[in-house]
Amino acid sequence: MLYIDGQWQAAASGATFAVTDPATGKVLDHVADGGAADARRAIEAAAAAFDGWAGLTAYQRSEKLYAAYHLMLERREDLAKLMTSEQGKPLRAARIEVGYAADFLLWFAEEAKRVYGQTIPSNRAEQRFMVLHQPVGVCAAITPWNYPVSMLTRKIGPALAAGCTIVLKPAEQTPLCAIEVFKILDEVGLPPGVVNLVPTSDPVPVGAELLSAPEVRKLTFTGSTEVGKLLMAQAATTMKRVSMELGGHAPFIVYDDADPKRAATGAAMVKVLNTGQACICPNRLYVQRGIADAFIAALADRIGKMQAGSGFTEGVQIGPLVDQPSLEKVDRQVRDAVAKGATVVTGGQRLTDGPLADGYFFAPTVLTGVTDEMVIYREETFGPVAPVIVFDTEDEVLAMANDTEYGLASYVYTNDLGRAYRSIEKLKFGIVGVNDINPTGAAAPFGGVKSSGLGREGGQDGITEYLDTKLVGLSF
Ligand code: NAD
Repeated sequence: MLYIDGQWQAAASGATFAVTDPATGKVLDHVADGGAADARRAIEAAAAAFDGWAGLTAYQRSEKLYAAYHLMLERREDLAKLMTSEQGKPLRAARIEVGYAADFLLWFAEEAKRVYGQTIPSNRAEQRFMVLHQPVGVCAAITPWNYPVSMLTRKIGPALAAGCTIVLKPAEQTPLCAIEVFKILDEVGLPPGVVNLVPTSDPVPVGAELLSAPEVRKLTFTGSTEVGKLLMAQAATTMKRVSMELGGHAPFIVYDDADPKRAATGAAMVKVLNTGQACICPNRLYVQRGIADAFIAALADRIGKMQAGSGFTEGVQIGPLVDQPSLEKVDRQVRDAVAKGATVVTGGQRLTDGPLADGYFFAPTVLTGVTDEMVIYREETFGPVAPVIVFDTEDEVLAMANDTEYGLASYVYTNDLGRAYRSIEKLKFGIVGVNDINPTGAAAPFGGVKSSGLGREGGQDGITEYLDTKLVGLSF
């Protein structure tokens, strides 16, 4: 169903599309297939609701976000099970994601009350300057399938807290999770039109309608760099504000003073996060020569023992990839690397035995001897493959780590404070984890530089992305 102006409804065309389980290929449900006309109605509803919503007190808006936070936690188990069916991640990871998603509602329920202004002295005695922050207006949100609940609340939370209204287009692979999030927003009694949902099987016409609409004042997007660039160009025609959370190609640097086993444990865990389908997954693992053998052995041991299967099976750490093209991309990258001289230490192929036959499974893999001629060295993998590169010096590894168009997450393992500090300062990335594989949280400003995007989500910065600055000159 679409959710427009406070009503659950069919698409204007009457069309629907199928949603499948990536572990089995089975159809889970059919969803209303929104088109440009539906997007237009949603934009009009959001525009009509804007003044009323922005005119409430921050305390009133905050109440709704608190209510949504509590309801999301009450529904945690149902939402997690739906996510495992629709997106494929292991149930334990799905439960964690719902908690993370709810955290954004809580954080922004609190931040709503902290949109402060400023008074500034003037060089004219009879003048004062004042600065206010006001909601930007109607926001269009376009979200990915890999975190199908938290990527929604990371946008809806700050937009609503700031006083914006929103039209959201979820990924075509995961509309069912989006519908459940919007049921929560409906039940907490948001005024009609404040939040609107337009699922679609074809993002192009809905995207074009959202991006060409003069009423839409901001685009907030999470997805691939390729699509992000396309949308940014479209947004330019009506000079919309944009926030872009795009792809990554994270380096994971292990210096020779680090404990190789501890570093391998961290690398393995963050590599298989969401079966390798997270924007912060390491895509190049650099290990210093002195501990390379110990690190590779520990990494291969951990990764090689990981169990693949349905996210509902206890103990499974590797779920299916989201679809056939994703599986083919991972397979192609591994074959390219091997053809150019990489060694497969563990894994390296599709998994098709028994119950895995109908899903999109790839074996958790460690490659060594990876070089910058290989496609995997440059292109985001989005799968459970760990490419390892051995290095000699600090300067060399920092230059290699920065040699990418991306700049989202990066990781450093060391016990040397000087090395840690130099690496933090020199890495051209929005995020650096030092002996830390989870540098994320609702309170933290998440985002990238270069082709990884613009703007930050979460933290204090998260709400400013939804606010305009107004300068007042006051003479008396
Ligand atoms: P994608 O770019 O293919 O799709 C993302 C969204 O864009 C989907 O909703 C899709 O329907 C929509 N879309 C695609 N073409 C469009 C068009 N022409 N007009 C309007 N909308 C369009 O990305 P994906 O495969 O869903 O997600 C994976 C990517 O997202 C990876 O690159 C990953 O790194 C990135 N990602 C980034 C972050 C971050 O915070 N930086 C978080 C999660 C995922």
